[in-house]
Amino acid sequence: MKIVRVALDVPVNTLFDYRSDDVHAGDIGRRILVPFGRKTAMGIVVELAAASDVPPDRLKSALRVLRDAPVLSSVDLNLLKFAAAYYHHALGATVMSALPARLRRADALRANSTVSFALTAAGEAVAIDSLPARAPVRRRVLGLLKERRALDQATIRNIAPTALSALKQLIAQGWVTRRETPVRSAQAPIGHVTTRSPRLTSEQSAAVQAIRLHLAEFKPFVLFGVTGSGKTEVYLHAIDGVLRSGRQILLLVPEIALTPQLEATVRNRFPATPLVTLHSGLNERERFERWVAAQAGDARIVLGTRLAVFTPMPQLGLIIVDEEHDASLKQSEGLRYSARDLAVVRARQRKIPIVLGSATPALETYYNAVSGRYQLLTLTQRINVAPPCIECVSTRGQQLVDGLSLQLLEAIAARIERKEQSLVFINRRGFAPVLVCRACGWLSGCHRCSANLVLHLHERRLHCHHCGHQAPIPAACPECGNQDLGPVGHGTQRIEAALRRRFPQARILRIDRDSTRRKLAWPTMRRQIEEREVDILIGTQILAKGHDFVHLNLVGVINADSLLYNTDLRASERLYALLTQVAGRAGRGDTPGEVLIQTEFPNHPLYLALRRRDYASFARSLLEERRQAGFPPFVHQALLRAEAPKIDTALTYLARAARIGRALSRQVTIYDPVPAGMVRLAGRERAQLLAQAESRARLQEFLAAWHAKLSAEPSSPARWSLDVDPLEF
Ligand code: ADP
Ligand code: ZN
Ligand code: ZN
Repeated sequence: MKIVRVALDVPVNTLFDYRSDDVHAGDIGRRILVPFGRKTAMGIVVELAAASDVPPDRLKSALRVLRDAPVLSSVDLNLLKFAAAYYHHALGATVMSALPARLRRADALRANSTVSFALTAAGEAVAIDSLPARAPVRRRVLGLLKERRALDQATIRNIAPTALSALKQLIAQGWVTRRETPVRSAQAPIGHVTTRSPRLTSEQSAAVQAIRLHLAEFKPFVLFGVTGSGKTEVYLHAIDGVLRSGRQILLLVPEIALTPQLEATVRNRFPATPLVTLHSGLNERERFERWVAAQAGDARIVLGTRLAVFTPMPQLGLIIVDEEHDASLKQSEGLRYSARDLAVVRARQRKIPIVLGSATPALETYYNAVSGRYQLLTLTQRINVAPPCIECVSTRGQQLVDGLSLQLLEAIAARIERKEQSLVFINRRGFAPVLVCRACGWLSGCHRCSANLVLHLHERRLHCHHCGHQAPIPAACPECGNQDLGPVGHGTQRIEAALRRRFPQARILRIDRDSTRRKLAWPTMRRQIEEREVDILIGTQILAKGHDFVHLNLVGVINADSLLYNTDLRASERLYALLTQVAGRAGRGDTPGEVLIQTEFPNHPLYLALRRRDYASFARSLLEERRQAGFPPFVHQALLRAEAPKIDTALTYLARAARIGRALSRQVTIYDPVPAGMVRLAGRERAQLLAQAESRARLQEFLAAWHAKLSAEPSSPARWSLDVDPLEF
């Protein structure tokens, strides 16, 4: 009898044993159907064993190994096992969360094929008008089929809610037929063509040389290059070398939808090389097909967001993490993993180099570089253009016009005069962050969150940016009935209104999550900016990332101070990174850029460092502060988070968890439970407990024991989870 140990998508950290005569070693990593409770579940074969601890009479038989779908190799499983162990997440749930949804469902795939629908000869001959007018959906489905010849199910479903039943009727009428095509086909033949590249600067070629020297071993590099110093060019040369050796490349970025330029750049440089992108905007079929393409080795380059770190790539030869400091590389729920950290682990497991690129490396990364664990590669020169001139505009005691200083307004006027573009950056969308009653001081709070409802004047509504709750703007104060309610503070909409009043002739474009929500809104806006149909841009951090606008020469920053004296230990590091990115938008053409930061604290060390463009010294001083305060990266942390309808329940639970933890280890410091930074969120109240140790290994040992103890408890009144290396407090 053979025992197969299966990972199932359940939050219990164990593998499940089944009897099976049908499995062999080659099935490890394959999908398997097993009985689970009263249902059939889909799992992944993780191990084979000769015996089981489960008594023979209780051991069930597996139903069937699914050999139709591609398998996870042992190296893929090793990464997932590491992730599950390190983040203390159930292995089954970890494995399943890394698989495309198509593979998680408990049904067989049709022999590596995808299904599409096409017109039959009869269907081609039939005229749309011959369908009754009361069947508009059937007409639309037929019309689109005539236009595109073949459609997949997802596309058809998008036509209308009843489109699939319309499709059935069309099939019954004999006008449409169902077709199956093999999954592996769409990729272009593998070739290696490199289009012309610029001559590397000496700094760039030194970086490329260093990477190319170590293509056959694990070697982490930090590519620390100011904005516009040509980091991408270094990536491309490194990629070129790896492609030539016949290996695959994984390129991770924080947010792909916002950086189509990088994808275009890579595709243009290697036009014959199959590349797939992987991100959350894909439908199920796209994700599955691209995953298969990477796994089959057809896709030579995978460009993706954090989840792509798990993509099986049998010939992986290089990993690059661009903007490695970006917090969105860390997943904030479920398996709370850092894609950057796992990428380093993956590179180590595969014995390949990894390049972490940033203009403002995370302090953890920078520390690894200065302490010699990672090799530091530095690009100090901006290519072709002078760096922007960064200045602070002191707003202390100044009368601002709707949040805008006189200097900034004059600078914008001057740029308009010269037909150049300006960007006003404010990290807050909506009209104003809160509505207040001028009589009693009532604030427009969200009843589900500890946050204010933001005034959105265009929609005439109040929005909670945390839980999505919306409410109409009250006609009078709900507390005292006074009708004099007013906005306080500034958001993008209010700045837009102010600038429209001030520059009635100027063409103004607001770019935030509200204005870019419609599909294709953003590409259209980008084109407008590129074609100089815009004079003033107002934007949130959506605009800060990776866009080159050649006519944009002035950047004004409003409200940066709100992040300056934040209690979050990473606030300064983040503000510096954000401002560097925003400032990097200025002056990409032939004219040097100008950056004006409005602040009440022009002499704050952060602003001084920013003006000198000296992140290295700033990072060293922050590291020194962290060393003295005993903060990461000099200690390692984990947060036990708990939430419940009432905060007391969460705090009481954590107090118990703290006692259990303190009994387990003395080398790990366990602090007292505290309410979370934002206590209420979507109607639940949250608290947290910090555990910290100087040694990562000690902390991990402790967490494993602690997690096991907490999991073994009977159901707890609070929902809890563990966040290892937390970024948000
Ligand atoms: P970063 O990613 O470091 O901000 P980019 O890679 O976007 O910088 O490079 C900035 C600009 O300089 C791009 O337009 C790029 O094409 C160009 N560039 C990069 N390297 C060179 C080079 N060696 N010679 C000329 N232009 C270059
Ligand atoms: Zn009132
Ligand atoms: Zn809310």
